[in-house]
Amino acid sequence: MEKVSILKNLLPMFGNTPLVKVIFKYKGEVKTIYAKYESINFSGSIKDRIAFAIMKNAYKNNLIKPEQPIVEVTSGNTGIAFTALARALGHEVKIIMPDWLSKERYDIIELYGGKVEKVSAAQGGFIGALRIAERYAQQEHYFYPDQFSNQTNVHAHESSTGPEILIQLLKQNLKPELFVAGVGTGGTVMGVSNYLKKMGIPCLCHPLEPSNSPTMSTGGKKIGSHRIQGVSDEFIPEITKLDTLESIISVDDGDSIIMAQKLNKIGLSVGISSGANFIGTLKKMEELGKNTTAVTIFCDNSFKYLSTALCKEEPVKEGFISTDVELLEFSFIR
Ligand code: PMP
Repeated sequence: MEKVSILKNLLPMFGNTPLVKVIFKYKGEVKTIYAKYESINFSGSIKDRIAFAIMKNAYKNNLIKPEQPIVEVTSGNTGIAFTALARALGHEVKIIMPDWLSKERYDIIELYGGKVEKVSAAQGGFIGALRIAERYAQQEHYFYPDQFSNQTNVHAHESSTGPEILIQLLKQNLKPELFVAGVGTGGTVMGVSNYLKKMGIPCLCHPLEPSNSPTMSTGGKKIGSHRIQGVSDEFIPEITKLDTLESIISVDDGDSIIMAQKLNKIGLSVGISSGANFIGTLKKMEELGKNTTAVTIFCDNSFKYLSTALCKEEPVKEGFISTDVELLEFSFIR
């Protein structure tokens, strides 16, 4: 089959995810948070949206040859998304990633037929991985999507995630007033923010990061180890324009883990960054102190975290807010 026909065929598996309406009690008050339920995408995460957009753009503009191998740097989901799609299109894939991420991530990529090259902290971690990928792109002519600097990443969310959120809320006679998303590349928060601005919707769009790794808050100076895999990858990505967004929300990774565990316990399979996004959204809602239509992202499901702290008992620390959340019910909006 022609590559463009393959992409056309696969299209129904990308985006158009439901919005899940989560109703809960927090300190005795009933509240609602809406979240895009992204695990039903082709390879199980929000990053399928950008893999599809980047591949489609590459074919449309002759940026890739049919037999050209692909190299990408990732904390997991982008690597999984590119490998699945690229294999369906018949490309070889090399994924460069730090060696401290969940075992499931490496295994899934290899099961799809991708080759993983792990980079230790001593070899430079994420920054080291970027240098290795650049070398493959320049010296061995790999196609390098470069999600951290590729504007198509932002456009993917501007043209899909953003419009879907608006349409789904309009069906409920609502408009988004608050949007929070953890920053890996920042593609999600930038794309949704750009779209809502373009549509004249006054929605506060906040980027989020782990309090144990305040990289954005310190202008790129401070990097810490944290357990919210998929966000805060050791530098501020080129496509994240903090001056166009609202303030940075910080969340504790332990608090995020407990929140993700609670969501799983009511039947919503989510990973740790989804717990972080929920906590961050709730924190901001509390700060705003009024009834706000608040939206966030459930980026992926629990399956990539079975070997991590998500499946272990997490100690409660002072200041956690997840412990005061009582989840009541959820429903899906198409
Ligand atoms: N959560 C998870 C689990 C992810 O894999 C990613 C992407 N790395 C994000 C959140 C952040 O998304 P974005 O790259 O669009 O900022």
